[in-house]
Amino acid sequence: MIFDIRNETMPRDELEALQLRRLQDLCHRLYACVPFYTRKFDERGLKPEQVRGLGDLRLLPFTEKDDMREHFPFGFLAVPQDNLIRIHASSGTTGRITVAGYTRRDVDNWAALMARSLAAAGAGRGDVIHVAYGYGLFTGGLGAHYGAECLGAMVVPASGGATRRQVQLMSALKATTLCCTPSYALHLYDAAREEGLDFHDKNVMPLKTGVFGAEPWTEEMRRDIEAKMRINAMNVYGLSEIMGPGVSMECLEGRRGLHIYEDHFLPEIIDPDSGEVLPAGQTGELVLTTLTKEGFPLLRYRTRDITSLDPSPCPCGRTHRRMDRILGRSDDMLIIRGVNVYPAQIEAILVETKGLSPHYQIQVDRVDNLDQIEVRVELAEDFLNSDKVRHLEALTRDLTRRLREFLGVTALVRLVSPRTIGRSEGKAQRVIDRRKI
Ligand code: ADP
Ligand code: ZN
Repeated sequence: MIFDIRNETMPRDELEALQLRRLQDLCHRLYACVPFYTRKFDERGLKPEQVRGLGDLRLLPFTEKDDMREHFPFGFLAVPQDNLIRIHASSGTTGRITVAGYTRRDVDNWAALMARSLAAAGAGRGDVIHVAYGYGLFTGGLGAHYGAECLGAMVVPASGGATRRQVQLMSALKATTLCCTPSYALHLYDAAREEGLDFHDKNVMPLKTGVFGAEPWTEEMRRDIEAKMRINAMNVYGLSEIMGPGVSMECLEGRRGLHIYEDHFLPEIIDPDSGEVLPAGQTGELVLTTLTKEGFPLLRYRTRDITSLDPSPCPCGRTHRRMDRILGRSDDMLIIRGVNVYPAQIEAILVETKGLSPHYQIQVDRVDNLDQIEVRVELAEDFLNSDKVRHLEALTRDLTRRLREFLGVTALVRLVSPRTIGRSEGKAQRVIDRRKI
């Protein structure tokens, strides 16, 4: 289902002309109103009028998360402060928080883009959308909420926490769509089992779609959630600096890659070390320029998220390019004895191993100047209750071997009892890096 047929399926040449007009307007606004950008333009001897084509994007300065931290809270404001009607903040996963301010038009655009995202997952009027993203400064809860209302669906603002009550509510109100982090979805699944509510019985749990995001997850995790809950588990991406959830979203028809809503955001992929723009298809850091934002518009914001862009046409008819699911963050890439390891690679191996649950934690230490990585993963309950439990040692050995083959590093594997790894109601904390370097 396409929510905004005109903009989502706009022919590429028309779309690019629109992007250029919006980019030029953005440069004028930023040069005039945000001293940070005035300085950056002046340092390059650049005037906004010199941006004549989309290719000129490369001439423009990057914006880093640290720039936003340094100008906390309102250094990037591009309109009079009275025009703001909302504030959000990043969840601070990788350091101090950053804030973002929204004008009324920003909030309306966001709601429309999140409505697009929910529609792309098949939701619409008549659906009951259970939002279990946290409400508050974090963009997840209110972002999904306004999107669901804009779509004309009925929204249940459950927020995080009180997990057992949530599954009761999902059953009683007949939730058809669930919005939360993928790790919390698994947590809800466990709670439902404890409450005797069976996701496979659609009279009890009529859920058909999940719109999951805010943290990295893998194809294997998707398959696991889909089998457990008997739903379509769809991937939504966003970040508070750019807007919040709804920057890009998978479609039911393609399911591979997330359409970036290019009438509002201009994507690039760069080499995170050199800053060089990479050709289509190559993997690197996602850089986003906000084309329509009024409150805190950003030029070439370095997201630190690692992915690639796919310009090939999608069977759904949308013309917006797709990005691959996020492989990790350039700053959560672990370097273990010189080898680059992304937590997502470890997750992929764990989730496809029979007998394990998808709850895990990775701990990195440095002992005698040597990096050590330990992967703790919970055993699945049905594994523990079976006679296979005799094969624990073989399972540990097998997992160690596969991790070594795929990652090129030896990890210490610890299989632990179900429910011994802490659950998170928001973003799961998968990596604990205790190295002091
Ligand atoms: P923080 O950087 O403090 O976590 P946000 O709360 O704004 O700030 O979260 C945005 C980040 O969450 C993104 O930059 C990305 O790393 C991660 N993220 C959001 N959606 C997804 C997704 N679908 N897959 C992987 N990572 C995601
Ligand atoms: Zn598509």
